[in-house]
Amino acid sequence: MNPLKNICVYCGSSPGRLDAYTVAARALAEALVSRNIGLVYGGASIGIMGAVADHMLRLGGKAVGVIPEALMRKEVAHYQLSELHVTQSMHERKTLMAELSDGFIALPGGLGTLEELFEIWTWAQLGFHGKPCGLLNVEGYYDPLIEFLDHAQAEQFIRRSHRAMLIVESQPESLLDRFGAYETPIVEIWVGKDEI
Ligand code: AMP
Repeated sequence: MNPLKNICVYCGSSPGRLDAYTVAARALAEALVSRNIGLVYGGASIGIMGAVADHMLRLGGKAVGVIPEALMRKEVAHYQLSELHVTQSMHERKTLMAELSDGFIALPGGLGTLEELFEIWTWAQLGFHGKPCGLLNVEGYYDPLIEFLDHAQAEQFIRRSHRAMLIVESQPESLLDRFGAYETPIVEIWVGKDEI
């Protein structure tokens, strides 16, 4: 079992169309707090980001934000967090979020969420870290993306072992159980057609 002390959550700076997204963000916060796992996230007070952090704090959990100075100035930062790290750049921010975390979960979100998820998954593919990456597929939000990933694998642009690194569940407890049992695969950077 992997000791999961802190989990990084990528998620929308918007609330999304359905209340179910916010409900799922709160359910994830509950699952984290019940396992004594801290939250690392983008440090904003808005959207799903604000919902997950607010609920962590409401439940007495730890919520650590990492935000670049430029976004601080836009006054979206959450000032009640357990810790708020302010970085000079987005790159520095994402590096620090990765260093502080033992695993990465994407809740529903937009471009920022997708970019963060794909970057951290790519780093796993390259063997730069061995931490679990997962999707919390709330209300089938990620179904079209999962379908596309299957297509990309079938077309031999994503290796089966790399595709398998992304853990997909619709319930936070199941996702965290699988994170706890995650075994880092041995990765090869070279991608040939043999294993696909
Ligand atoms: P999006 O999914 O496009 O709403 O972007 C959300 C993701 O990008 C979050 O996980 C954040 O890390 C980052 N992000 C985007 N917008 C903001 C914001 N206004 N404040 C802080 N982080 C943000």
